[in-house]
Formats: sequence, C-alpha cells, structure tokens
Amino acid sequence: MTGKVYIVGAGPGAADLLTVKAASVLARAGVVLYDDLVSAEVLALACPAAETINVGKRCGHHGAGQDQINRLMVQHARRGQLVVRLKSGDPAVFGRLGEELHALREEGIPFEIVPGVTAVTAAAAAASATLTDRRMASSLVVLTGHRCTPAASLPLLSDSEQTTYAIYMPGPDYSATARDLLRAGLDAETPCALVSNAGRSQQQVYRLRLGQLHSHPSVPAPAVLIVGRVMAVEENIKNAAVAVPLHIPETGDAGLHLQSLAD
Ligand code: SAH
Repeated sequence: MTGKVYIVGAGPGAADLLTVKAASVLARAGVVLYDDLVSAEVLALACPAAETINVGKRCGHHGAGQDQINRLMVQHARRGQLVVRLKSGDPAVFGRLGEELHALREEGIPFEIVPGVTAVTAAAAAASATLTDRRMASSLVVLTGHRCTPAASLPLLSDSEQTTYAIYMPGPDYSATARDLLRAGLDAETPCALVSNAGRSQQQVYRLRLGQLHSHPSVPAPAVLIVGRVMAVEENIKNAAVAVPLHIPETGDAGLHLQSLAD
C-alpha cells in the first residue's frame, strides 16, 4: 500500500511559527527529509522513532542531488510510509517545489502541500513593517539575488516607486544586487531592511538606503532584503532632515528603537 508525502513548510525557524497542521503531520511521520535551513527546534517536533534525513543542498554545494531527494520521497512512500518533506519557510517560494511535484505526479504518489510562513513575511514582522500599503506600495515582487549562473541578473522592474521588493539570497555580494536594483530604475534613497535570522531568537534588522547596500558588511545568514518605501521608519519620514543611523541591529522592541531615533 502506497503511503503519502506531505510537503511541509517549516516556517522561518521558531517552532511556534509552524502551522498546527505542520506540527501534526511532523509528529506522525515515519520519515522526515529536511533541508539545511530547517531549525533544530522544528525538527525536534518529529516523532522520536522517525527516520530523519538531511537532504540539504545549496547552490554550488549539493548535498543530496534533487534526483536523489525525489527518489527518497518515492521509495519511502512506496513502502507505505507517511513521508514529510520539510522545507524552510514556504515550500512554494524558492524551494524547488515544482521539481518535486513533477516527480511525485510521474510516479503516482499521493501528496499534499502544507504551506508555511515565508522568510519575507517573518522579516517584515521583525522590522515592524508592512509589505504593501495602499498609500505607497501596491505590489510586492519576490526575487532571488542568487546567481547559480554568473550571467543571471534581476529582471527588469516596472512601477518601482509603488513596489516593495523582497529579495531572497541577496548576498554575500550585495554589490551585484544593489547594482541590478539601481540599474532597474530604483532610487538610491529607497529605504531598505536587511533582516537576518527572521523569526528566530537571533533575528536582527539592519536599516539602510539602497545607495549604501553595495558596501554593507555581510550579515549573518540566512538573510532577506526588503526594498521599498514601506521600509522607511515613520519617525524618519517626519524628521526628514535627521540622518538615518546605519546598521542598527534591532533585537526586538521596535518601539524602543523608534524612540532612540527620535531622541
Ligand atoms: N522556502 C523558503 C526560502 C528558501 S531559499 C521561504 O519561503 O522562506 C533560502 C533563502 O531564504 C535564504 O538564503 C534567505 O534569503 C531566505 N531565508 C530563509 N529563512 C530565513 C530567515 N529565517 N531569515 C531571513 N531569511 C531567510
């Protein structure tokens, strides 16, 4: 009897940002195939008897290849197992979900997708910011700065003033990402936030202007970059003459942070 594969979003890292459904299938799974970015606290919710396999892979540094991951899902499901394929954030965002779905469909394996909190929504929450705003941001564009092929660059963007850009894998060379965004027509004054370890205990928010991104020191991975007017801190908009301090690590209490900027 064939089992079933649940492709589950593990969220940004904190176990309490997991969906109830994700926690429930994780507790029941016989086999868990997980990526590098899945946190230990989420993995700890798997049944102790489950077989947990790290199939992590990064661009240029392949752990298990994609074909091998597909094979493992199929093999274990064919043995009747409840398989959880655990991916960081949401499986549908930069997670090679398409390739895995293709393999499961080809082999006739039943599957279900359990969505998760994706990095940029956790990052916006960390920065106490909205991603869209009917007054200044009518669209959200999700991009990757990761260049698996050296020639690849960000696509041309339109209506950049009214758009928030969420850039996954923005580094470690921010200068290429900065160059592409400026070339695509964004203003160098556009406010940005680099959010490291969003939704985890060590989360940090670094605020800057797009014109400063090229020389910004690398922040701890994983990090996501949000670019757009929504990232302007309200107090800074009100006191436009006041320079925005750079590289301010924000460890949680946005209220205190805003207060100190206003001082
Ligand atoms: N499917 C994931 C994205 C996988 S791609 C999701 O929906 O979030 C991996 C990239 O996601 C990382 O290089 C980083 O840019 C971003 N990312 C993942 N987890 C993150 C976190 N906790 N904080 C900040 N960025 C994160």
